[in-house]
Amino acid sequence: MRDSLEAIDTGSGSAGDGAVVAAALLRWYDRAARVLPWRTGPAARAGGQRPDPYRVWLSEIMLQQTTVASVRAYFHRFTTRWPDIHALAGADDAEVMAEWAGLGYYARARNLIACARAVAAAGGAFPTDCAGLQALPGIGPYTAAAIAAIAFDARETVVDGNVERVTARLFAVTDPLPGAKKRLTALAGTLTPAERPGDFAQAMMDLGATVCTPRAPRCAVCPLQGLCAGHARGIAADLPAKTPKAAKPTRLGTVYMVLRDDGAPLIETRPPRGLLGGMPGFPTTDWTPDAPPPAPPLTADWQLLPGEVRHTFTHFHLQLRVALAHAGPAAAPDRGSFRPGFDPAALPTLMRKCWDHVRAHLSADAG
Ligand code: SF4
Repeated sequence: MRDSLEAIDTGSGSAGDGAVVAAALLRWYDRAARVLPWRTGPAARAGGQRPDPYRVWLSEIMLQQTTVASVRAYFHRFTTRWPDIHALAGADDAEVMAEWAGLGYYARARNLIACARAVAAAGGAFPTDCAGLQALPGIGPYTAAAIAAIAFDARETVVDGNVERVTARLFAVTDPLPGAKKRLTALAGTLTPAERPGDFAQAMMDLGATVCTPRAPRCAVCPLQGLCAGHARGIAADLPAKTPKAAKPTRLGTVYMVLRDDGAPLIETRPPRGLLGGMPGFPTTDWTPDAPPPAPPLTADWQLLPGEVRHTFTHFHLQLRVALAHAGPAAAPDRGSFRPGFDPAALPTLMRKCWDHVRAHLSADAG
């Protein structure tokens, strides 16, 4: 019943009527907004209460390249442990990096710490406009627009993948992405209202996440159905068109796991720049298209384990061979240090896979 009521509530006209689109979408948002831990609830929203900029910023950084489902638990842990900007600014770098472990894109965590310290040093209040926000570490144009709109109700157009998809369908834009980005951003801008731009931005995201979904848009329950050119032309599910991506290359390498007699693994902190920067891990060779030269961290009786560890980064697939060695108490590696009681939960996902690979091998051996 609710679905059919929503379907009736679509108005009619075209996506060119930006004010009509915004009004229809905001009406829908008022009754169907997702409940998310960084948002204010419906009652507070109706009373004009804005969400806490610290929580908005933290969620937006975590949500870069990452799904809401993955972010929830991390957001809860971070805000429980560091409930405000001053608490996070005063946190130990290694503890923040360990809490971030598994969420990926570790430059975000390094920038998170730098940004928290910059905001705290300036008194603790986030800038309220895009220019001020973009001057902070880790905040690019998209994130600045999202924070300005959501936390401060600035009239900014926030264009993520969801919004690109909704806009392409609403206006029946058939030019493929990424070339169509500029046009879609301009079209999305024509929809952003002067009133409640922050709610509108979130409503577009919610519509894309829950109704105008990638493969099978639920046009029958969409508040914009009567305004949607893609739906009218029967091409919505095929939009946005995308230029086929080039296949990802594969890189090769070897990871070296050394276990000292007391069980302490050899761990190094990766260089601050580059992939997994600043995170703990096991020493590896370079990762290269052809097998790289060996780079063991110490002279030992290395055993190459069967199988390999596979992981996919944004721009390439990685295949790592796993070498294992045991070391006595006097072992002096070239890199890293032995860490008794090391908690593998602090490892980024790739290194945790390596850890699991070795554990599985040792268990099989023991069995
Ligand atoms: Fe709504 Fe369907 Fe148009 Fe998406 S394609 S905006 S779900 S009517």
